Amino acid sequence: MRISAPRLVPLLLACLLPVGAHAEWHVREEAIMGTRVAVELWSEDAALASRAMDAVMEEMRRTDELMSTYKPESQLSQVNAHAHERAVPVDPEIIKVVERGLEMSRLSGGAFDITYASVGYLYDYRAHQKPSDAAIAEALPGVDYRQVEVDREKNTIRFLHKGVRVDLGGIAKGYAVDRAVERLEALGITNAMVNAGGDTRLLGDRRGKPWVVGVRDPRNEGKLVTRVPLEDAAISTSGDYERYFEEDGVRYHHILVPGTGKSAHEVRSATVIGPPDSTLMDALSTTVFVLGVERGMAFVKQLEDVEAVIVDAQGRLYYSDGLAPPQ
Ligand code: ADP
Ligand code: MG
Repeated sequence: MRISAPRLVPLLLACLLPVGAHAEWHVREEAIMGTRVAVELWSEDAALASRAMDAVMEEMRRTDELMSTYKPESQLSQVNAHAHERAVPVDPEIIKVVERGLEMSRLSGGAFDITYASVGYLYDYRAHQKPSDAAIAEALPGVDYRQVEVDREKNTIRFLHKGVRVDLGGIAKGYAVDRAVERLEALGITNAMVNAGGDTRLLGDRRGKPWVVGVRDPRNEGKLVTRVPLEDAAISTSGDYERYFEEDGVRYHHILVPGTGKSAHEVRSATVIGPPDSTLMDALSTTVFVLGVERGMAFVKQLEDVEAVIVDAQGRLYYSDGLAPPQ
């Protein structure tokens, strides 16, 4: 996989830079389908800035609606209901994201797998519901990305096995961020930050200084474990605190190990930093979370220009080789 270089600014810089407020910086924040979406951009034209921020929110809502499996009439719900019987036609955009998901499965040796949903749908974190071991065992054969067949010409998806389901939750938010940044670029914006939950993309710099993105402490929402100065880059964090419930001291959360159908427990959060491709970073953070510290760091090492910050199950902090240690 070829990815271009992110521009990582030495961490020390972050401590020296003053934070100044300018009238030309425009900020907007909205809650879209349970996720906090934020945009900050530079423009001397207030009307253009407002249109640009509208475009970001509109793009977030559009992609969320398109990729969701929440409503039974959605395209992916139709795929999940019928693709084991026949090839189901979907929007070319869905095909594109599914293909990237499958590519990530191959790259990660199956740690990232959009068919995690074959078991994943049995969990309801809000209702504190988890499947029994027997139910997991029964659903587990459906977790296998090789059972998903994509026809790029006809824009259809077919499953080769009955109990297969897909869900783009591990990649769709990053995709939405990329599309939103594309809208900004089309409007001539050159300096912006777009964030959706754990996924952030930086367009340009913060006018003469880097953007500084904080990595939150997975057990303390108000605290950061580190700050990363970035420009023209993407950063994504996957954490066990986004959707979970606890029972008998075990945290049941939304990132599953495809091989077992259970929540991954080696780490509390995994952050990846790399080129301006949030779709890729989103999938990579989920992947590194599943792989854990040792395998996750080894995985990141073989990807050029991608760095990682991991908080393990004991709260210990790990940095990949390319990142300066915290000051
Ligand atoms: P979020 O930013 O929404 O918390 P993450 O990037 O951390 O998302 O990914 C978590 C989401 O990815 C889950 O909610 C689920 O939809 C999906 N998912 C869970 N386990 C896997 C997996 N092993 N491979 C691919 N996607 C997964
Ligand atoms: Mg992710």
